[in-house]
Amino acid sequence: MITLRRTLRALLVAVLCLFLVLFINTFRLRSLQPAPGENVIITYDADTAVQRLVGLLQIPTVSSSVNPSQHSSENIEDSNHFDALIAYLHAQWPTVFSTLSTQTFSGHAQLLRWEGRDKELEPLLLLAHLDVVPASEQNWQQPPFSGAILDGEIWGRGTLDDKGSVAAILESVAALIQQGVQPERTLLIAFGDDEEVGGYGAAAISRYLASENITPWMVLDEGGFVLSDSPLPVAAPVALVGISEKGYLSVKLTASAPGGHSSMPPRELAIFKLSHALERIHAHPFTATLDGPADKMFYWITTEMRWPERVLFSNTWLFQPLIISQLERSPGGNALLRTTQAPTLLSAGVKDNVLPESASAVINFRLHPHDSTENVITHLTTVINDSSITLTPLNEATGIIRKASRIDHPAFNTLAQSIRTSFPDAYVAPYLMVGASDARHYRNLSDQVYRFAPLRLNNDSLSLLHGANERISKDSFYQAIQFYANLIFLSNATADVVTPRAE
Ligand SMILES: [Zn+2]
Repeated sequence: MITLRRTLRALLVAVLCLFLVLFINTFRLRSLQPAPGENVIITYDADTAVQRLVGLLQIPTVSSSVNPSQHSSENIEDSNHFDALIAYLHAQWPTVFSTLSTQTFSGHAQLLRWEGRDKELEPLLLLAHLDVVPASEQNWQQPPFSGAILDGEIWGRGTLDDKGSVAAILESVAALIQQGVQPERTLLIAFGDDEEVGGYGAAAISRYLASENITPWMVLDEGGFVLSDSPLPVAAPVALVGISEKGYLSVKLTASAPGGHSSMPPRELAIFKLSHALERIHAHPFTATLDGPADKMFYWITTEMRWPERVLFSNTWLFQPLIISQLERSPGGNALLRTTQAPTLLSAGVKDNVLPESASAVINFRLHPHDSTENVITHLTTVINDSSITLTPLNEATGIIRKASRIDHPAFNTLAQSIRTSFPDAYVAPYLMVGASDARHYRNLSDQVYRFAPLRLNNDSLSLLHGANERISKDSFYQAIQFYANLIFLSNATADVVTPRAE
C-alpha cells in the first residue's frame, strides 16, 4: 500500500515537473517582432502611379527560353518588347533615370545606382524582374496584357510577378527624389530581364558587382508574401521572408520487360513493375525534419502562435513528432519539412495489344537543404528495391542553397522593422522558399539575401501567380510603394544594432 502511494506521489511530482518545464519554455521566449514604427511620409499621385503600372503591364515582355543576349531572328519580336519596356521606364519615371545612373547587362537587364552620402556603408540592393511568363487568353476574365481596372483591382500578367514590384520600387524612389532626399546608404536596383527562364541577366549583374568588389548589405528579391492564411498556427497574417531555396531535380525511372503479344502475358510486365515502384516511392516519403529553415522560422514566430500550439512549438524537444504530423497535412507545411516528390510524366506502350518493352516515369523532386542528388538516388534505390529498374537523373540538382541567409544581422532586423511598419497586423517569419528566383545569383555576394514581395495574398490568390486572372488591388500596390520607401529610409540608419533575444 505504501509503495503504491509512493509511486503515485512520484508520478504526480514528475507530471508537475513536466508541466513546469513546458510552462517555463513557453514563457521564457520573448517576441522578436519589432514594434511597428511610423510610415515615412511620401507624396505621389496615386492615379498616375496606377496608370504607369498599367502601361508596364500592356507591354508583353514574355521571356523566351533563349538567353536574351543571344536574340535570334525568331525572338526578335520579344526583343522589341523589351526595348519598348526600357524606353517606357525612362519616359514614365524621368526623375529616377536622370538622378540614378543606369547600366545594361546581357540584353535588357538594368542596374540602377543611387549614390549614397556615406560611402562607407555597403549598398542596399533591390531586385525585381521585367519579364513575365506567357498567358493564354482563354481562362482570363480580362485580357492578360490589357491592364484593365475593375472594382479597385488592376488586372494583368505581371501584376504580382513581378512588374508590381518594378513599378512600386520606381514610384517610391521617385517620391523620395521629389522630396529632396538623398540616401545615406547607396541604393542599387537590379531589374532582371529573364528571371522566369534562368536569370542570365541577374547572373551578369552579379558578376559585375563581384568584379567591382561590391558586397551588398542586403539583397531583397521577390519570394514570400504577407499571407493571410499561412500554414502556421498564427491568428494574424504572416509575412514570409525566404532565407533559402529548395533544390530542383528530376529523375527518370525505367522498367524493362520482354515485349510480345498481350494475349498470353507473363507475370513480369514493365508497367506493373513501374507502378509497383511508384507505389513504394509514394509510401516512403523523405524524412521530415524541423532542423534547418523550419527551425529558424519557429525561432521567429513561436511567440506569436495561438494556444495550445505555442506550447507545442516552444517544446519541440518533446512534441516534434506531433508538430511534424500537423504541419505535413498541408502541402505548404509539408514542403517546408522535407524533400518532396511528384511524378509528373508517365509513358509506355504503343498499341493496346502489344506488351511494352519499357515503361518510364519522371519524378520531380524539390530538395530540402539537407538532401542532394546522391541522397535522392540512394533513397530511391533502397525504397524501390528492384535492381532491374534504372534511375537516371535528368539534371544535376540545381538551386539548393544549403546555407540560409543570416537572420542574426541588422539587415534582417531592418527588413522586419520595415515589414511591421508597412503591415502592422502581420508577423514576420523567415522560411524556405519552394521556387527559385533571381536572388540565388546574388547569394555569393552577401549573406543577407532575402526573398519577400510586399504584397498581401491568401491561398486563393497564390494560384494567380503564373496562372489566369493575375491581378492586384490598388490598395495593395500603394502599400508596396510605402513599404519600399520605409525600407530605403530605415536602411539609412548608420547605427547597426541587432536586438538580441532575452532568454
Ligand atoms: Zn517572379
